[in-house]
Amino acid sequence: MSICEGFVGAIGETPLIRLPRLSAETGCEILGKAEFMNPGGSVKDRAALAIIQQAEASGALRPGGAVVEGTAGNTGIGLAHICNARGYRCIIVIPETQSQEKIALLRTLGAEVHTVPAAPYRDPNNYQKVAGRMAADMDNAIWANQFDNTANRDGHYSTTGPEIWAQTGGFVDAFVAATGTGGTLAGVSRALKERSRNVRAYLADPAGSSLYRYVREGEPVATDGHSITEGIGSSRVTANLEGTAIDDAFCIPDSESVPMVYRLLREEGLFLGSSSGVNVCGAVHVARALGPGHTVVTILCDGGGRYYSRLFNPEWLAERGLSGS
Ligand code: PMP
Repeated sequence: MSICEGFVGAIGETPLIRLPRLSAETGCEILGKAEFMNPGGSVKDRAALAIIQQAEASGALRPGGAVVEGTAGNTGIGLAHICNARGYRCIIVIPETQSQEKIALLRTLGAEVHTVPAAPYRDPNNYQKVAGRMAADMDNAIWANQFDNTANRDGHYSTTGPEIWAQTGGFVDAFVAATGTGGTLAGVSRALKERSRNVRAYLADPAGSSLYRYVREGEPVATDGHSITEGIGSSRVTANLEGTAIDDAFCIPDSESVPMVYRLLREEGLFLGSSSGVNVCGAVHVARALGPGHTVVTILCDGGGRYYSRLFNPEWLAERGLSGS
């Protein structure tokens, strides 16, 4: 290991962790990219860095400027760290339905947090649109716009994807991930498919999201039910996801992903958040579809510590008819 330069230098080059139990069960190599080991604690450190670097390079963000974003949490956390390290103001707009841990952490990190009522994307009071208007009214400020700013996807295309290719020595048959902005799935699958036409890309989508039917039928239409997962699922095809070649999709209900989170903790020793549960369920579905002998890579997005009051609260789960087993 070498010495890296500051917070930013510590982003990326995360381990690729083989999951022994699930690999044995499926006869495949099930590998999880340990994005929870990024210095800000999630896969979104990469997107935050890519967006800021692109804004610096274009001259849109100059010294002493501000970064404004509407975010369900992890991107804001990544942005707050990078803004501290780079001397920018960080202004975060967040739906008040998001977990208290994430909101408290953002404030502790020094971000100016504005909570707004949850509103659908078409509503002008949607948190992303509020963030866009705030940045437009300020001097030397950018709206990170993680959903439609393709610097996000480009960051994964130039880092996460090539890292997975190098770590597997090119022996990778499939990549599967849930999407929030779509940056991870789009960037990684593009990078891998460019290196081998045989690599397949799959979407793992929580219940209630519209992307499962988008992949299968061509139109984004919500599946039945809803999900306690945070940061994933979407009602629309973002600019980051647009044009991505996705071979197939799986709809993963909470009744499957929540027990998987607990299995990952108890059997694999990994304390992870709900989207990682969806992703690993997706990897198992892909492994079963492809049959034994394949290498399937997914993303371990963030750690479980951000979800004490929900995912790791048995009463909260029970009220929603869920449990860890
Ligand atoms: N998992 C978690 C915990 C997240 O916060 C996010 C981002 N919102 C994702 C997965 C999805 O990543 P992406 O935005 O690259 O699709």
